Amino acid sequence: MTPDEIRAHLQGLQARDLPSHGGRTLAYVYDSGLAEADVIGREALSMFADSNGLDPTAFPSLLAMENDVVAMAGGLVDAPAGYVGSVTSGGTESVLLAVLAARDGAGAAYSTASMVLPTTAHAAFHKAAHYFGVEPILVDVEPTTFRANPDAMAAAIRDDTVLVVGSAPSYAHGVIDPIAELGALAAERGIRCHVDACIGGWVLPHLDGVAPWSFTVPGVTSISVDLHKYAYTPKGVSVLLHRDSSLRRGHFFAAANWPGYTMLNSTMQSTKSGGPLAAAWAVTRAIGIEGYAALARTARDATLAIAEGADGIPGLRVVVEPDSTLLAVATDESCDVFTIADEMLARGWYVQPQMSFRGMPPTLHLTLSAATAPSVPEFLKALGESVEAARAAGPAAVDPGLAQAAAALDPKALSDNDFNGLLALAGLASADGSLALPERMAPINALLDVAPPALREGMLLAFLDRLSRPS
Ligand SMILES: *Cc1c(COP(=O)(O)O)cnc(C)c1O
Repeated sequence: MTPDEIRAHLQGLQARDLPSHGGRTLAYVYDSGLAEADVIGREALSMFADSNGLDPTAFPSLLAMENDVVAMAGGLVDAPAGYVGSVTSGGTESVLLAVLAARDGAGAAYSTASMVLPTTAHAAFHKAAHYFGVEPILVDVEPTTFRANPDAMAAAIRDDTVLVVGSAPSYAHGVIDPIAELGALAAERGIRCHVDACIGGWVLPHLDGVAPWSFTVPGVTSISVDLHKYAYTPKGVSVLLHRDSSLRRGHFFAAANWPGYTMLNSTMQSTKSGGPLAAAWAVTRAIGIEGYAALARTARDATLAIAEGADGIPGLRVVVEPDSTLLAVATDESCDVFTIADEMLARGWYVQPQMSFRGMPPTLHLTLSAATAPSVPEFLKALGESVEAARAAGPAAVDPGLAQAAAALDPKALSDNDFNGLLALAGLASADGSLALPERMAPINALLDVAPPALREGMLLAFLDRLSRPS
């Protein structure tokens, strides 16, 4: 293929994706609306795409940029003298490493380890539990505020608990857990407290009246902050900060027990592109702290305006007053969130459906970027029309036969046959047995919503397996 043909093909593929810019995709992507910052970020990304972060002595440029980026993050989260940090590939890796460091930092004293999580803690903690054999102890959040319940979390701590977790804010509902209480109870027990500020760490420092959530809280030992979210940098960059360097040691890794180079890694990757880090360095310099303060206030104002507007739409309600720039809205029984999400997509807006969980209703998740601010009235108009259409259609009903078939499945042993049957029942398979994604996702989401989490996971894993086949 010629470069022109390749370019045309790539553009064709990308045209089917959600747009990453323009402020109409309210999950997954973040748009500052600052074209100049985007341009310099892309330039840095390509300039360092082939550099290797494997060895900081071979590529000292990357070490210098990493220390600069960590310093900026440290300033934002009130890191005390003696703090350290590492740049990772994203929030999940930051969370994984925080859990690993907590487990290994507890030493060989325990043959088992556990961590106490509010039910709203990000799914990345469940991944960490799975990877590192740290048992997650889930504690229900307060039913009306969706915030962690410190007394219940204190009661859940066991002798082998190595970590207590709080979010600033939580992804699903956008509220900040009572970090002061969580830090205090961790300190009292002599265990670690991680604040997951992956999505709030670059925003909250610029807002007024925010409850304490940073290193100013005694007992907080580590904080994660993603740059590829509200620092508006290209994907692939997060920072994990520790109160002191001894707390970090558990996620450093060296291997000299082979005949090649001595492998020395601060994070999970070994060979790693310098591109995302260089891009983050460039974009954070281009926007600067004052620029971020303005972007944070713009996104916050848009969030409050949308919350007010959404609350005024019959059938819709904001589930809890947002602490940052994320919003969760639920419906009454006249309609359902999954149909609204489909209607919004048909109008050119992506909002993210969230399933019901442990007494929490299904909701629509909105992550507001600064670039959405100018289109708030347009967004609310589309939302009003979408809810009206969903009310006219009535709540998405799950076919009883399908629900029954799903309920009969054993999620631990979902065979190809079971899955084929479900796909056919749901109208998701074409004649040759291959997947055919429907235009409207509401029927599928409604089915997943009535399935217990383990069955949801089983069906989604089987689905992913079917999607991921060589072309
Ligand atoms: C996004 C997010 C994560 C996970 O980050 P990825 O960059 O998607 O891996 C973890 N915690 C919170 C609160 C988040 O918003």
